[in-house]
Amino acid sequence: QERSESRLLAGLNPQQREAVLYRGQALLIVAGAGSGKTSVLTRRIASLLENREAWPSQILAITFTNKAAAEMRERVGALVGQASEGMWISTFHSACVRILRREAENFGFTKNFTIYDSSDSRVLIKRIIKEQGADVLGFTPGNVSAKISKLKNELADVDSYARNANMDDPNEAAFVQIFRAYTRALTAANAFDFDDLIGQTVYLFRAFPHVAATYQNRFKHVLVDEYQDTNHAQYSLIRELTRPPALDDNALITTSPGASLTVVGDSDQSIYAFRGADIRNIVEFERDFPGAKVILLEQNYRSTQNILTAANSVIANNFDRKDKKLWTAVGDGEKIVGYTGYSGHDEAQFVADEIEKLHSAGTPYSSIAVFYRTNAQTRALEEIFIRSALPYRIMGGTKFYERAEIKDAMGYLVSVANPQDTLALRRILNTPKRGIGPATETALFRFAEDNGLSFRDAMREAAALGLGPKVTNAILSLSALLDEGAALVAEGKVSEVMSTLVTKSGLVESLRRSHDPQDEARAENIEELIAVTKEFERNNPDGELVDFLTEVSLVAAADDLDDSSGTVSLMTLHTAKGLEYDAVFLTGIEEDLLPHRMSASEPGGPAEERRLFYVGITRAKKRLFLSLAMTRAQYGETAVAMPSRYLQEIPAELIEWRQSPGMANSRGGTQPRALNANRTKWNGTDLATKPLTEKRDWPNRITNQVRDNGALELAAGDRIRHSDFGDGRVQTVTGEGAKRIAHVQFESAGFKKLLIKIAPIEKL
Ligand code: ATP
Ligand code: MG
Repeated sequence: QERSESRLLAGLNPQQREAVLYRGQALLIVAGAGSGKTSVLTRRIASLLENREAWPSQILAITFTNKAAAEMRERVGALVGQASEGMWISTFHSACVRILRREAENFGFTKNFTIYDSSDSRVLIKRIIKEQGADVLGFTPGNVSAKISKLKNELADVDSYARNANMDDPNEAAFVQIFRAYTRALTAANAFDFDDLIGQTVYLFRAFPHVAATYQNRFKHVLVDEYQDTNHAQYSLIRELTRPPALDDNALITTSPGASLTVVGDSDQSIYAFRGADIRNIVEFERDFPGAKVILLEQNYRSTQNILTAANSVIANNFDRKDKKLWTAVGDGEKIVGYTGYSGHDEAQFVADEIEKLHSAGTPYSSIAVFYRTNAQTRALEEIFIRSALPYRIMGGTKFYERAEIKDAMGYLVSVANPQDTLALRRILNTPKRGIGPATETALFRFAEDNGLSFRDAMREAAALGLGPKVTNAILSLSALLDEGAALVAEGKVSEVMSTLVTKSGLVESLRRSHDPQDEARAENIEELIAVTKEFERNNPDGELVDFLTEVSLVAAADDLDDSSGTVSLMTLHTAKGLEYDAVFLTGIEEDLLPHRMSASEPGGPAEERRLFYVGITRAKKRLFLSLAMTRAQYGETAVAMPSRYLQEIPAELIEWRQSPGMANSRGGTQPRALNANRTKWNGTDLATKPLTEKRDWPNRITNQVRDNGALELAAGDRIRHSDFGDGRVQTVTGEGAKRIAHVQFESAGFKKLLIKIAPIEKL
């Protein structure tokens, strides 16, 4: 045992070691980025298991993303092997879904409940606003759902809100009505929205002490990573879980002192205030948990000194913070590279070129990441990356599950799993088109209400509505199909249920038959979804339909579970938290993007944006690239962009500046100068006199037209002309079909790899 103990502690500094070994009710580890907070949590879990102080089932570890959870599980597994199975390492949301699936029946839900993502919530809210005629008061699905979400993060429900609301104010009264209708609709649909997952678990624990006691007795250790970003609801959940269980009347429940709690965090990395994250949770930890031990870590193991100095200089500009002394033994490392591009595309080209250089010099693609503030910035990056045949993957907020056809297909599955889910049923009622119009939908809905039936049961009774025979038959056969699906569920396979539903409903067929070329791609997406169900079955041989639905809703809403081996990772700065890469590109370091223009009106907004920049910088281990553009296409227009105020907070000598070769007065080597809103000159180029349309300035570089060279025959030795790179000779062609890649040596532009299908090339 002593030998394994030393193995677990190997390489740790004294403070880290203390953090692994401390045993008490509450422990707070506060430290700057890259100081080993997450590593210490992982070792602590391993140490508890190894010393048999806890069974795996007695440990609950909360991470910020699914990816972080998977990593932590893997690392604990590597340290202690089999002994780690059965641990709960998950995000707040997944932990709560697990609890709710088991316990939902205690308070009027079934275990098959649906999880509404934000777009589902908005559809529902939109309907309610319309029904109540509240649109004239300026209510929109966007502002209503934001407000409801905020309230739920504060654990306010409609009743507590209404008690304090000024009901004489028509706006307040209308909001309360909408909130109430929304809450009722969720309950009737046997559904939780994303915020409910946490809020309702807290409610469940408070309302049913015996349920809470089950978990309070079960978990002996609760550990939370990224504690600075917990909101009030999450904080309350942790409090409930670590409370000593209330004594049962007949004392059947053995009592424990409550789980011991370990939290780690860095207030400089708090970036979720807009979702109600409350920095006070970390600042007031010692007050909340009297007797708590606090350990500070000061050595950074991730980044070079140059990167760390840049990060420290930036964050030092925030007030109201404790200064931390982070140091590293790694050495200065290379300078940070700064690049001022002419446009977002030029910037993206720089990023792609530098990535190729890093890759040729031995950095694997998977150790490189590109960050941006807003999702809109991915368009230019993707265009250039695809053309450069650079393998990349966009992490977080997978768009796949937001596609209409995927939502349709999922709607069938959800309707089978949770027949109370009226939202899902109404979505598929006339998709594909089967002649059930809005009037029929309303008639069904009324019929259900008038007769105290669920919408699903009303469909079964469609014959009683006195509709035409064609419509009646359409409803009845859909109803029969759903019953068939439900019967299949009982037999097991998710993939069979899925393919039966999308085939027999005619969903796939209608897309295949369509003349819209996009529909073919949509049909393929549904095939892809069926492939996802098969993969799920392989990974979870005992998995049930609800497990699949859970996985989909959590992955779709949070982050990508896919492994990113061999690809460059693209993600927003928010998604980047906790991760690390050898080389990091921070793009769009401009006013209005970082700080984001929306942040100006928020109290504490610019300080929070600075923390976001700090988070971005501190992800880099060896190389950091900061880039910006002089003009940026945003909201459909190309506008002059100004360097971010935060750039000047980095000591100039740490950055080596480069400039687009295409720029008029390229002097290179200069730091973009002080911000001035009225300024039209940028390092000598007068932007006021320069046309700002990208097409003019970058001839042929970006066209909106979709190119398809799929049929172009190319072989080694062929000469080609590229619209940007000029003439070159093909050295070899690799890959097949749509993925054929030409390796080309250009006369002046050097060596490039091009995806033949879409590259702007012609054969000479
Ligand atoms: P963040 O604030 O960004 O979440 P963190 O404090 O959680 O950072 P970790 O991710 O745990 O930091 O660690 C940063 C890097 O330093 C990791 O690569 C980790 O393996 C390494 N590291 C941590 N402690 C040590 C150590 N004692 N010796 C060597 N490497 C270490
Ligand atoms: Mg961490």
